Amino acid sequence: MNSETTSTIKKLLETSKKIVIVGHRNPDGDALGSSLGLYFFLKHLGHHVSVVMPNEFPDFLKWMPGSDAVLIYEKEIEKTTAVINEATVIFVLDFNSLGRVGDLKKPLEESEADFIMIDHHQQPDEFAVATYSDTNMSSTAEMVYHCIAALDGTETITADIATNLYAGIMTDTGSFRFPSTSAETHRVIANLIDKGANNALIHQNIFDTNSPDRMRLLGVALKNLHILPEYNTAYITLSQEELDANNFKKGDTEGFVNYALSVEGVVFAIIFIENKQDSIIKMSLRSKGDFSVNEFSRAHYHGGGHTNAAGGRSSHSLNNTITEFISILPDYKNALTRNDS
Ligand code: 5GP
Ligand code: MN
Repeated sequence: MNSETTSTIKKLLETSKKIVIVGHRNPDGDALGSSLGLYFFLKHLGHHVSVVMPNEFPDFLKWMPGSDAVLIYEKEIEKTTAVINEATVIFVLDFNSLGRVGDLKKPLEESEADFIMIDHHQQPDEFAVATYSDTNMSSTAEMVYHCIAALDGTETITADIATNLYAGIMTDTGSFRFPSTSAETHRVIANLIDKGANNALIHQNIFDTNSPDRMRLLGVALKNLHILPEYNTAYITLSQEELDANNFKKGDTEGFVNYALSVEGVVFAIIFIENKQDSIIKMSLRSKGDFSVNEFSRAHYHGGGHTNAAGGRSSHSLNNTITEFISILPDYKNALTRNDS
């Protein structure tokens, strides 16, 4: 974090404030881990702090310290709006545009608080008085670590802070395997273990808590895996009917797309998930190397994210979305097969 951003944030935090921390819609381990890590730090500094998420987060994150205090906007609209109205400082974490928070956008736009953005996604909007944006960072949780270090040193990092930041970094790096994982990421992780993050237990809490329904849904997803060798591309589909038949719960499809990306030779993977309630098809896109799913999703799916991981949506039917997807691929054939020998 540069010295100008550090001093702007320091000044805003000089006196005790009412602070709200907001993460993105469909919160993941990084949105929640970075927010809760910052929450315990700001409370320790003597501020009055609330964490707000636009909608519910998956059960496999419900063990995270402080997660029971998170306000879910969709579930408690009036209470959450009141908390936002009273805040004089609002941290926005792990997203780059107010379009990423769904209906929570309105109270945030109406707020007169000073916004501080901490985020690692590409092309951040400029609406904050202080923006700490670094697309080379593994995760927002790693950035919160650097932010705490710049504001107050790492002495104040408690086991609760360390646990949340560890979980955020671990989930956003695919357990430290994505290219965004740097030597510095590992140094931060080592420090977090020193501060009390129980690494084995955190992995267990997140990865070894599958429900039988989720495992059966994974079986369906793998049956629906299609490979298009001429484009080094693989895709998975899940219809609403298939989700319902396996008692789908939020978070159950997390990581499924990685199985498509793990097929030998595949550099572009996508999962299409039907959501009848919202009348959309939600996609998760992943890639290897320099094929940018951020650009692909911005161009075709009203979404974005990072070079190797992005999300998006389509308002067409599942079948039409897939037909369209296949029809777009020839335009990307060169980019997708560049490294073929
Ligand atoms: P996921 O596929 O896991 O939902 O998202 C992958 C990455 O892309 C995450 O970093 C997520 O924050 C980002 N992302 C997901 N959906 C969208 C979207 O609609 N717009 C943008 N800009 N980013 C997204
Ligand atoms: Mn993130």
